[in-house]
Amino acid sequence: MWYGPAVDLDDTPAQAEFRVRARAWLEEHGTDSPPPVRGIHVADPAPYRRWQGQLARAGLVGVTWPAEYGGGGLGPIEDLIAAEELMRAGCASIIDHIAVGELGPTLIAYGTEEQKRRYVAPMLHGEEGWCQLFSEPAAGSDLAGIQTRARRTPSGWQIDGQKVWTTLAQFADFGLLLARTDPDVPKHRGLTMFVIDMHAPGVTVRPLRLMSGSAPFNEVFLDEVALPADATVGPVDGGWGVAMTTLMFERLMALAAFEHLAPPPEALLAPVANHPAVADADVRRRIAELTVDRLGLRFAGYRALTAIQDGRIPGPEAGLGKIGVVEAGRKAAALIAEILGPDALEGEWGELGAEMPGMRSAGGTEEILRNTIAERVLGLPPEPRVDKGVPFSELGRRPEAVA
Ligand SMILES: Cc1cc2nc3c(=O)[nH]c(=O)nc-3n(C[C@H](O)[C@H](O)[C@H](O)COP(=O)(O)OP(=O)(O)OC[C@H]3O[C@@H](n4cnc5c(N)ncnc54)[C@H](O)[C@@H]3O)c2cc1C
Repeated sequence: MWYGPAVDLDDTPAQAEFRVRARAWLEEHGTDSPPPVRGIHVADPAPYRRWQGQLARAGLVGVTWPAEYGGGGLGPIEDLIAAEELMRAGCASIIDHIAVGELGPTLIAYGTEEQKRRYVAPMLHGEEGWCQLFSEPAAGSDLAGIQTRARRTPSGWQIDGQKVWTTLAQFADFGLLLARTDPDVPKHRGLTMFVIDMHAPGVTVRPLRLMSGSAPFNEVFLDEVALPADATVGPVDGGWGVAMTTLMFERLMALAAFEHLAPPPEALLAPVANHPAVADADVRRRIAELTVDRLGLRFAGYRALTAIQDGRIPGPEAGLGKIGVVEAGRKAAALIAEILGPDALEGEWGELGAEMPGMRSAGGTEEILRNTIAERVLGLPPEPRVDKGVPFSELGRRPEAVA
């Protein structure tokens, strides 16, 4: 199913008023912003988290969060407007996109009143950092195959296992952790979501350095970590539903943060803007293609946001946006490498180019997104799922049921 033709690009009067307010506040306070960074690459998160606190108090972060938890109580279009105005003012975005975009909304949806009172305001105001502890060395696309175990103890739970690709774990005070509480039921059941204190004994965070030289994510080792009984988020053994909610918020976050997460062609191609090669007809054609693709993606994003604003949920076809953004970045990287040769490896742009291949995996791999679109949008036959209904603990033992 496609969203239909309607894409409303005009601000409503209330949205226009929000934009004016955002612009006026940024004109007055924009000088407090730390230097804008690409994505989440910072050596010290403190200035960005202080800035996040200011933005939160001004209603420009957590725009879609309910007002009772410190949010703006507004819609995703207003969230996009805030992002656009930050960009326009040349101010930094927040670095805690995952926390504010995914983890906070999950806690608000599934947490107890006590958890919400304790955690969500400091998260929104950048006073406490959070990370998402889902992926493992042997479970990424097949997230339900995680092996990290949570066992009951007299005082609560004991956690043992390993997570990987954990963005910003090195700066996190807490994490939202998916763990297996019952291995004797099929893999999607028997999972539970927990809040974990990242400073607790038994938690070890090791940065993973990329070929770009930066280390935005980490391995996290969990050895006999003791959690209190009230650390569960949502039902015990019902963690799959909680995780799916987090991933749904991830899709919405990616749409609203599009302007920050997907650099426009003029930014992508800045290193070659004044290079003589730009006069070449083929290079010009490729730049034009990138520009058109980026515009197309932006308007497809608007279409999805219009759907959400109208109370509809964007379907799996929204995954095409993620595929397109990464594809545009990869095409730009290839073009710049061709024009500049080894100089393309230098500086911030070299880093971006080196990270683009990894972005094909972040937030769902291209193959998985394409599979989902094939099955749910195009109605193609589903992949065989031989592990369906088989208890997780028996998966390795039954040769016909390979996860
Ligand atoms: C920049 C970045 C940030 C990340 N941040 C976090 C984070 O904060 N927290 C977190 O929990 N995770 C995070 N991740 C992990 C991310 O969610 C996983 O990388 C992703 O789910 C893919 O899992 P995997 O890396 O284990 O790859 P795999 O699932 O092992 O896939 C390897 C390859 O096989 C292909 N493949 C797998 N299954 C199929 C299939 N059924 N059909 C066709 N092809 C298939 C994949 O498409 C891929 O090309 C991050 C990843 C990146 C790159």
